[in-house]
Amino acid sequence: MRSKNKEELISQILFWKKKRQALILAHNYQIPEIQDLADFVGDSLELSQKAAQTESKLIIFCGVHFMAETASILSPDKKVLIPDLEAGCSLASMIDAEMLRQWKKNYPKAVVVSYVNTSAEVKAESDYCCTSTNAVQVVNSIPVNRQILFVPDMFLGDYVAKVTGRKNMIIYPGECHVHAKVKPADINKKMSQYPKAEFLIHPECGCVSSCMHFAANGDIPNVKTHILSTGGMMKYTKKSKSNEFVIATETGILHRLKKENPKKSFIPVRDDLVCRFMKMITLPKLLNSLKNLEYEVKVPKKIADRARIPIERMLEISN
Ligand code: SF4
Repeated sequence: MRSKNKEELISQILFWKKKRQALILAHNYQIPEIQDLADFVGDSLELSQKAAQTESKLIIFCGVHFMAETASILSPDKKVLIPDLEAGCSLASMIDAEMLRQWKKNYPKAVVVSYVNTSAEVKAESDYCCTSTNAVQVVNSIPVNRQILFVPDMFLGDYVAKVTGRKNMIIYPGECHVHAKVKPADINKKMSQYPKAEFLIHPECGCVSSCMHFAANGDIPNVKTHILSTGGMMKYTKKSKSNEFVIATETGILHRLKKENPKKSFIPVRDDLVCRFMKMITLPKLLNSLKNLEYEVKVPKKIADRARIPIERMLEISN
């Protein structure tokens, strides 16, 4: 995009944002231009908390569909728009409500913990929601003798089971196509190229359980390896005395990491960790959304009322 066109687009977006009195929320994986225009940039948990607290009557959600649904569930009186309805999530699409209902039949006494990357219908079938920030806390809040069905991310589920020591977690075999690409070989390669760097990894990553294993065995330096949500990465890099970090998550977060820590350097563990769904939100689509009030994400009341219960349980545990 030519810079003059870009400037024009940005000024029109700012004009319509003010006219509509809209709140723009953007996920950490959005393109830099969208992050720079947002009122708030954060991870799934932070964005759902903002959506629940805001006074604005109009929320433009620059993220993927399940996130806009969560905002709509938490703020049923507000209009929630997503600039592109096709912005989905490969992880969320791994399980639908009918598949979950069938799975639950095999474990009638189990409690269902759903990662927030699920549809509203799946949340409505769940007892608790969690994000990567609070998954350990949520699981720890459930009595130890209760069996847990964890959906849909197997890497996060495996990580949580290891950290909490739970033997009664049954984990659904789903994965995110972006995070599943990260393999131990990628980490070893980058860590030998940048021996002074700290290593930050998202728990959805394909190598997270092997990372824990390597760190425990001393194959990668335990003290320099941190398994963190994207919000956790933002906080950690600010307070750490290190100047170099290898980052294992979607590369969109590098923009914010660099912006908020201009003197530190951030190296992606792989350059191709790019979520095509997150990148579907562009400046022209954001402008269209503000101007024409498109595209509304509204969860039917019957589903929203049921889905709100596990989300609110999660928010209570995280507060
Ligand atoms: S990075 Fe993975 S989990 Fe996140 S929105 Fe994209 S497909 Fe879904």
